[in-house]
Amino acid sequence: MPTQAAPLVPRPCHLTRLAADFASLAAEAPVRRPHTMSRKQSRCSYCGSETRLTRDHVIPQNLFPKPRPATVITVGACSPCQQLKAKDDQFLRDYLLMDAVAGNNPIASDLYDRKVRRSISRGSSELARHLQAQPFRRVPLVTPAGLYVDFVIEAPLPQDRVAAILTRVVRGLYYSSRRNLMPASVRSKVLRRSPADFASMLDALGPNRRQRVMGAVFGCAFLEDPVPFRTIWLLWFFESVVFTVETEPPAAV
Ligand SMILES: [Zn+2]
Repeated sequence: MPTQAAPLVPRPCHLTRLAADFASLAAEAPVRRPHTMSRKQSRCSYCGSETRLTRDHVIPQNLFPKPRPATVITVGACSPCQQLKAKDDQFLRDYLLMDAVAGNNPIASDLYDRKVRRSISRGSSELARHLQAQPFRRVPLVTPAGLYVDFVIEAPLPQDRVAAILTRVVRGLYYSSRRNLMPASVRSKVLRRSPADFASMLDALGPNRRQRVMGAVFGCAFLEDPVPFRTIWLLWFFESVVFTVETEPPAAV
C-alpha cells in the first residue's frame, strides 16, 4: 500500500460531490437478497476446517448502526478462525472510523463518537495504542478545491495489517459469492484509493462486474478472470474510504 496518513480524529470535510457518486450507486444497486449461510456449508470459508462451524459476518457488524440491516453477508467459519477475526474486526472498525475522510459520513462520525472514543479512552483500541506510540504531526485538512477545513493528526499506519484484514474480507466475499474457498496463500495487492477516482474505477470494471452494496456502510464490485483466484475488487466503506484488492493464485511450489 502507498504511504497513508492516519488522522486520529475524523473531521467533516464537506466532500459532498464525491459522496454523491456513492449515493447514486447505493440507489441503483441495493442488496438483492439476504445472504445467509447455506445450511449445506460444511467447511470453514477461510481454512476449510469441517469442525466447530459458526456463522461469520464477512463485513463486521460493528460497522453498522443499530438496528443492523436484515441483509448481511455471512459465511460459515470455524471457531478458531472466528476468534482470530474478532480482533481484526475491531482494528478495521477503528481504522475506518478514525479516518478523516470517513468523518464526512454521518454514520461513521456517529459510530466514532459513540464507540471509538470510548475504546480509545479505555485503552482498549489496539490501533489507538499503536498510533500513540508513533511520531505524529498536525496537518491542515483541505478539500479538493483547496479550501482549508481543519487540522487532523497524521501518523504511520500498520499497512500490512490493514492489507491482511482486507484480503480476508475479500476471501469471505469470494466464498459467499462463489461457494468456493479462496486459499489463504492467495497473493494479494491492496491499495488505498482516492474517493475522487471512485466513479472511474467502477466504470473500468465494466458491465460484467458483480456488485453488492450495504447502504452507506459498505459496497464492493468485483471481476473474476478465468484463471482461478485471479480477481479484482473495489471496496468502499462509508462512501469514502476506497480500496482496490487484486488477488492472484498462490505461487506454484
Ligand atoms: Zn477456519
